[in-house]
Amino acid sequence: MKCTPTQTPGDIDIPALREKYRLERERRYRSEGQKQYLRPKSGERGDTLVDPYLPVAPRAPLSEEIDVAVLGGGFTGILAAVQLRKAGVTSFRNIEHAGDFGGVWYWNRYPGIQCDNESYCYLPLLEETGFIPSKRFSDGTEIQGHCVRIARQFGLYDRALFHTRVTGLRWDEAGRRWQVRTDRGDQIRARFVIMAGGPLNRPKLPGIPGLQEFKGRVFHSARWDYGYTGGSWENPVLDKLADKRVAVVGTGATAIQIVPYLAQYAKELYVLQRTPPSVDARPNPPTDPDWARTLQPGWQKQRQENFHRGAMEGFRPGDVDQVCDFWTEINRNVAARLAAQGWPEITPETFMAMREEEDFHVMERFRRRIDEIVQDKPTAEALKPWFRFHCKRPLSSDSYYPSFNRPNVKLIDVSATKGVERLTANGFVHEGREYPIDLLVCASGFEVTSDLDQRWGIDEISGRGGVSLYDHWAEGYKTLHGVVSRGFPNQFFTGYIQGGLYATTVEQFNRQGHHIAWIISEALKRGIAAVEPTQEAQDAWCQVMAPSTAFSQYLQSECPPSYLNNESGKFRYYLGEFYLAGFTAFEQLLKDWRDKGAFEGMDTEPMAAGAAA
Ligand code: NDP
Repeated sequence: MKCTPTQTPGDIDIPALREKYRLERERRYRSEGQKQYLRPKSGERGDTLVDPYLPVAPRAPLSEEIDVAVLGGGFTGILAAVQLRKAGVTSFRNIEHAGDFGGVWYWNRYPGIQCDNESYCYLPLLEETGFIPSKRFSDGTEIQGHCVRIARQFGLYDRALFHTRVTGLRWDEAGRRWQVRTDRGDQIRARFVIMAGGPLNRPKLPGIPGLQEFKGRVFHSARWDYGYTGGSWENPVLDKLADKRVAVVGTGATAIQIVPYLAQYAKELYVLQRTPPSVDARPNPPTDPDWARTLQPGWQKQRQENFHRGAMEGFRPGDVDQVCDFWTEINRNVAARLAAQGWPEITPETFMAMREEEDFHVMERFRRRIDEIVQDKPTAEALKPWFRFHCKRPLSSDSYYPSFNRPNVKLIDVSATKGVERLTANGFVHEGREYPIDLLVCASGFEVTSDLDQRWGIDEISGRGGVSLYDHWAEGYKTLHGVVSRGFPNQFFTGYIQGGLYATTVEQFNRQGHHIAWIISEALKRGIAAVEPTQEAQDAWCQVMAPSTAFSQYLQSECPPSYLNNESGKFRYYLGEFYLAGFTAFEQLLKDWRDKGAFEGMDTEPMAAGAAA
């Protein structure tokens, strides 16, 4: 298939749209920001610490010494462990709250779950495992199965601790070890720890007054109760909902995958929408075996790089858009304009201005698509997104909008009250009327940018001198290269912390794992007991990050509230600081740093004589 620029509506009034975006954004801000969400305590309704899927096997507490504790068994933790293995480190453990590997792909089993950018880029290590996804957007079961496949191939199972939550991390200065405490009573002493919890590990509930009083069933989308709805993860036929009135809170990436299933099976479905998402078409063909046979070694890395230019940095002359979907549309259209002008030299500001212009046209295409599908005009109008493409996660579905043409489905626009007004014992209240329901599904998201202790759920993280990491980073991250922080020797970070930003998130985490594994393996080989950045190197890296913070702040203040902008239009943490020169340049910088082999910008303490690894 030849990938061409899209036909987007030309008849738009950009200044008017800018004003519309501003109005829609401003009427949604809530002064409580992150505090609006509910965090149920253990045993309370909506408590998500309990695993509803697998029983917790009893075991005795462990007391042991290891080289590396990897906190997490999702893609980030799996890939960090794989990289340790490849670097020759064998004494490590994944410590994981869930009952198996998979992270979000273990917990999220809701009907319709699929990845939302194409699986040929998203699923890691396809070439090394020899696995080809069965279709363009894999189902959740296939993705979790791939986690299991990698963990088996790289021998991670016999060293994993499942159903185990880390509750405390304390640096033992005398022993040069991290003391790792868990909710199973373990006492693990580890030379190194890798924080690999992932960004979407802690579900949060919507701050709806009366949630605890409502007498019906309530669960978060990341803890789906098939016992109540009928069906299963593998076969989501929700036949027990035939006589049930259901409401779903939220219209994000999760909700739009769930809604078509609830629409099909529930007696009545209310979709409680605060901010409409942007949803494009989603052709999801099975993988063509002929295409798969043509793939040459190195194909996945090359495809991911092509996707990265398409989704983020911009295409270059000669590039062919391999992924060719809504993720790459804006840059594809910009590239077509540049090609027509003979690829002139342009400044980053001109590139961003061209992107913004295309953004207005693409978003208008999304809005007009709704008019073509949704028959009821007021409903179609209420479903339209009024913001820039990257303000909320861009989505795709062929079945979300058609769901609103069913007689049993009703869209409830709760934007005027900035969220669902309240719940009673019987249902929800909207514009003075009570709507009785049996089930409330909270597709209300995760602790992506809330306070770190909230996000990670670890009570104590104390470095040198008992300093808390939460206090140390209270005003923002302080790291070298996003992976190490002064005062917290031998502790390594992953995720969106002062590093390079890649369009394929999982591959970004894989590369972080590679860099971290290199440092750990070299430290072990060289007999280094403790490694941390120097103050000067850390300060210098924070200076490198500073311009990107200002850039993000600007972008985020242009968007309606969400986890991306701390629910308040004010930027904080996540995605805010990244290497502005781009991921490729960031990777080169790290490679050069490793190639020098000098631990530049780091203080290293040798192991005491006789204490070598
Ligand atoms: P989101 O945070 O994106 O969405 C939460 C939804 O809940 C929003 O629509 C929000 O409205 C709504 N909400 C919250 N509180 C209230 C309230 N009081 N009243 C009414 N509505 C409320 O969470 P998701 O789980 O949908 O997605 C999180 C992330 O997970 C995605 O951005 C994506 O990165 C990832 N994901 C990835 C998938 C994949 O296929 N790879 C699939 C699913 C998720 P508002 O927008 O107004 O805040």
